[in-house]
Amino acid sequence: MASRYTVHPIDDSTFAIEEKTRFSQGLCYLLCGGERALLIDTCFGLKGFEDTVRGLTALPMTVANTHAHLDHIGGNHFFDEIWQHEADRGIFALHTDPRYTLGIATEGVPRPARALAGLLTKSMLNIDPSGDYRYFEDGYVFHLGGRDVEAVHTPGHTPGSVCFLDRQAGMLFSGDSVCEWGVLLHIPGEACPPPVFLDSMRRLKNLWDAFETVWPGHHGFPVDKSYIDDYLACARQIVEGSASYRLTRGRACAGFGRVLITVPDEAAADG
Ligand SMILES: [Zn+2]
Repeated sequence: MASRYTVHPIDDSTFAIEEKTRFSQGLCYLLCGGERALLIDTCFGLKGFEDTVRGLTALPMTVANTHAHLDHIGGNHFFDEIWQHEADRGIFALHTDPRYTLGIATEGVPRPARALAGLLTKSMLNIDPSGDYRYFEDGYVFHLGGRDVEAVHTPGHTPGSVCFLDRQAGMLFSGDSVCEWGVLLHIPGEACPPPVFLDSMRRLKNLWDAFETVWPGHHGFPVDKSYIDDYLACARQIVEGSASYRLTRGRACAGFGRVLITVPDEAAADG
């Protein structure tokens, strides 16, 4: 079987690693400095993941998660030092509980195919929660040796969602907070209310001159930073009650320009 992992070099010391399964596509990023490497997210971390990452650098490795959803933390346990925003501790507990993750992994899969999907995704469901976990707050800086990467707290998709900013390279690694296709704010008990996400987009707008390209956790990459303007406008319309909703994959989504935002059912009903 062909490897699930494809390495896309961004420059000499920065790599996108793309994971493809039958049901998912995800991206994580390896940033090498003079002394350490930072691995931003670990996808589902299936067979071949660790070898793919270790094949790119011999530097000691720090893992930092954009948020604690299972498709971003799956390969954490392969590495010694793992960092997350402390506001995602509850999400981490949920997403490492197999009873919960089975439902997520088969969400959106047509009913007749669900049993098969459950079987095929079994290896993704048992995520090992052990490891040396550490917690950062907004503004924490990872020093990689001549390369600094800063955590920017952007709650919305989850309470502990962050983007990682490399000012020198002009790159923003955005996880699920800015993607080409859309941002999910509908998951009950996991996503924050839309005004919180709106504030996060304002934060990114305030950092406008600090980055040129946006590297998301899914779909197309890189994403032009002007997408943040679309998310800002879309989130503002949701909050003001003037958003236009359309049905996408059976769910009400607010759309603006090139992007969509899924919202809790109550929010769509109000609009
Ligand atoms: Zn997510």
